[in-house]
Amino acid sequence: MEEHKRCMLDKAPCGYPPTLLEQMGRPKMEREEQKVIYSPSSIGGCHRKHSLQKDHDWYVNPDSVYSTVRGNLLHAGMEKEGAPEGTLGVVRELRMHAPITTKYGEQRFSGQVDEILLRRIEGGVLYVALTDWKSKSLIAHSMGEADRRHVYQINHYKWLATQVLGDYLNNWETMAPADAKIYLNAPLSPISRVVVEEASIVYMSMAKQRTFTSDRFLYVKGKLKGEKDSGGHWHAYKPHEYEEVELSPIILFNQGYTEGVIRAGIEEQIEGENALAAPLVDEDAKLMCPTCAVREICVTIGEAQGFDMYQQRVR
Ligand code: SF4
Repeated sequence: MEEHKRCMLDKAPCGYPPTLLEQMGRPKMEREEQKVIYSPSSIGGCHRKHSLQKDHDWYVNPDSVYSTVRGNLLHAGMEKEGAPEGTLGVVRELRMHAPITTKYGEQRFSGQVDEILLRRIEGGVLYVALTDWKSKSLIAHSMGEADRRHVYQINHYKWLATQVLGDYLNNWETMAPADAKIYLNAPLSPISRVVVEEASIVYMSMAKQRTFTSDRFLYVKGKLKGEKDSGGHWHAYKPHEYEEVELSPIILFNQGYTEGVIRAGIEEQIEGENALAAPLVDEDAKLMCPTCAVREICVTIGEAQGFDMYQQRVR
């Protein structure tokens, strides 16, 4: 770390300015302060990686974490937004914790929801909508459904909000962590139960946003339509016409199913701490291995274990 700090201020060859490098090197203090062990990202991550990081040296490649830094900046901007008019209020960046029984005893599951819109209270029941902001480099015209991993993640948030959000709101002063923000348009009456009636995932790139929500199909502008002329050159129709892309709704799982998924994820994470987990495969490997900080040692050990490490070697 000392060498990194010296290099950072002395014409860093990676080409990143010190302010960005500082953010890349800083551990996520909020997670440490809140003693987060089991969360949507930890149970959905690579358990082999966590174990290798404990026992081997590793380094962060700035190119591979840049998109995370950009995503953090997006979240930092959004958390200052007040409550939309017509709502009771909004809660931003609330880290909630709820107990869950596993075969290794009771554990604490934690998750930080980007936005909880407080819609209305009827007979003590609070109806809310959850939103997860996702920063993305590019959104393909053809993207018609949310990423499977993100769908599971927002269902984990739904499970948490249904279990404990009422307690947080009824006891905000004593229970809410300092990072959480609440903006109210009207005072809240006591809450007996919380119902998550909608959940959305909003992908945001530099050029556009695409929202997937649980309560309806959405339709957006896709590719520009056109045709080839007699010389074989493509040109757009005038006036411009666009393909229509149908966006599939997010499936909201029932609480029992989600609880089972969370329980199994925690148990796998615990087992991964005691024995080196197998390498990721397929979609998970494609998503996580190229930017993994322990990829090299993972491949070396994996080959010695007899695994085919092709999916870890390709970038
Ligand atoms: S390279 Fe892939 S399988 Fe290996 S530790 Fe990293 S994320 Fe896990």
